[in-house]
Amino acid sequence: MGNIRDEIGRTLKGYVALDSITNTYRENSIDGFLKEYFESMEYFKENPDDFGSEKIPGDIHNRSVNWALLRGKGKRTVVFIHHSDVVNVENYNEYKDYAFEPDKLGEALEISSDSLDSEAVDDLQSGNWLFGRGTADMKGGGAIQLSLMKEISKDEDRIGNIIVLAVPDEENLSAGMRHGVKILRRLKEKHGLDYKLMINSEPHQRVDYTKGMISQGSIAKMNFFVYVKGILTHAGKVLEGINPSGIMSRIVARTELNLDFVDEIEGEMSIPPTWVHVKDSKEVYDISTPESSIGYMNVLNFSTSPEEILKKLMAVCVEESDEYMKKYNDARDIFMEKTNRKTIGDKWPVHVVTFNELLDLLKEKGDEYYRKYDEFEKKIIDDLRFNKTSFVNANYELVEYIIKLINRQEMFIVAGMTMPLYPGVSNLFQEDVPDYLEMINRFTTREWKQEYMNRYYFTGISDLSYSSLNYDMESTLSQMENMPLWGKYYDIPFEDIKEIQMPCINIGPWGKDFHKISERVYREDLYERTPRIIEHVLEHVLKEETIQLNMKHQ
Ligand SMILES: [Zn+2]
Repeated sequence: MGNIRDEIGRTLKGYVALDSITNTYRENSIDGFLKEYFESMEYFKENPDDFGSEKIPGDIHNRSVNWALLRGKGKRTVVFIHHSDVVNVENYNEYKDYAFEPDKLGEALEISSDSLDSEAVDDLQSGNWLFGRGTADMKGGGAIQLSLMKEISKDEDRIGNIIVLAVPDEENLSAGMRHGVKILRRLKEKHGLDYKLMINSEPHQRVDYTKGMISQGSIAKMNFFVYVKGILTHAGKVLEGINPSGIMSRIVARTELNLDFVDEIEGEMSIPPTWVHVKDSKEVYDISTPESSIGYMNVLNFSTSPEEILKKLMAVCVEESDEYMKKYNDARDIFMEKTNRKTIGDKWPVHVVTFNELLDLLKEKGDEYYRKYDEFEKKIIDDLRFNKTSFVNANYELVEYIIKLINRQEMFIVAGMTMPLYPGVSNLFQEDVPDYLEMINRFTTREWKQEYMNRYYFTGISDLSYSSLNYDMESTLSQMENMPLWGKYYDIPFEDIKEIQMPCINIGPWGKDFHKISERVYREDLYERTPRIIEHVLEHVLKEETIQLNMKHQ
C-alpha cells in the first residue's frame, strides 16, 4: 500500500478529466482510458483475456461495460463495481470549463465563491476537500478500486480473485450494470468463481460528521403509472361525461406521502411515495373535459415487492373511482330531479385493470387488432432509440393506443409499471454474511479512532440493486408483464442475477453535494481511509480461515 495515495491521485485526475456525461456518446471516452490502465499492469500483459470492453447490445450510444479479472489462488472472489458516467455540468455556469479539472476549479472557486453555500466555502478553504464533477460521484470510488487492483496485482502470492466492473448509464437506466450481470455470470462459469461480496464505492453522506457510513444493501426504485380514460364532455354538460382529472386527483391525494407504502426495517424507514408527473391529454385550453389523464408514482422502498405495491395501488384505484362515481351519481340524481330532466348521460361502468389485463382485452378483440398494436409498439421503440420521445410519453402513447383500439364508451383505469426498476436488496436477506460493521469498526477505531455506522439500505439508489434478488423470482417475472415495452426495450436479467447472487456492501469516501457545482470528496478518505478499509475487508473475505472467526448468522 506504499504509494497507493499517488496512484489514486493520478488515476482520479485522468478519470475525472473525461467528460463521460450520462446518456451521451461521451460515455465512451472512458473505454480507451481503462484499456490503457489495465494494459499498463504486468498481470494483464500476461493475461490479456482477463480484461475487456464489451458493447451493450442495442445500446443507443453504443456504450460498453469495461471489466477486468485479477486471478489469484482459490475460487473466492470479490466484485468491485463503480459507474463511469457523471451527471451533466450545466449548473457549473462560468466554471463549466473547469468542471473536470479539480485543481483549476478549486483555484477559480477560491477567487470567486459566490455560487457556493457557506459550508462549501469553509470546506474549500480548509483544503481537505477535492471539488469537481465526478470527484465524489463516483470517479473517486472508481479510482480507489482501480488503484487497489493494481497494487494487489503486484503480489504474486495473492489469495482470491478480484473483478472490477466499470459500468455506464448508472445515472439514467443502468444499462451498464444490467449488462454487467451477464459478464459476471459468464466469468463465474468460465473460471468456477465463488462470488463472496460485491463492493460498490459510491460516496457516503454523514449524519454525524465524525462518523463514516457503510451500507449493506440498496433501496428500491419503482415507478408506477395510472392512466384514467374519461368520457369527454363540454364543461357546461359535465354530468354527461366523466372528467378523468376528478378520479386521478383522488388517487394522487390518497397515495401521495402515504405511509402504507413505506417499509420499516431494523430502525430504518424507506421514503414516502410521491407523484413525479401528472398530466392530461390536452395540449391547449378549451372548454371540454380532457379525454384522459396519466400520472407517475415513484416508490423508494426496502423489501415490499413491485407486485405487492401494484396490488395496493390497484385497490386504491378501485376505491377512489367508486367514491368518485358515487359523488358523480349523487350529483347527477339531484341535478336531474331539481331540473326536472329525465336522463342525463349514463351510469358509466368503470373498469380497473392492470396493463397486462388491458392487453388481454385487446387480444380478445382479435388478432388484427393486436397486430396493429405490435406495429405501433415498434414505431415507439424506434422513437425511443432516436430520442424522439421519452419513455414517459411512450407509456402514455402505448396505453392510449390500446384504449383507442378497444374503443368502448366506458371508463378505464389502467395501472402498471414503468422503467427503470431498481429492486431493493439487503444483506438482511442473505445467508452467512460476516459482521461487516464490526469487522470495519474494529479496524477504523484502532487505526484512526473513527467509528462507522451501518445502513441496511443505501438510499441514494445504486447498481447494487442488481447484486441479488430479494423478491420471489416467478411472481416478479410475471409482474413485469405490467410494464410496457418489457423485454422489448428494457429488461432486467433476473435469471442471471439469481446465478451470481451475492451479499453487497457500499464502502466509499465521504462526499457532499453530488450533482451540484459544489460536488466534493473528502481527501483523507479518498487517498487513505477508504482504500485501507476496503483492503481490510478484502483480506477477510478472500481468505477462508479468517472469515470463520467473523461469521455471524443473522
Ligand atoms: Zn453515483
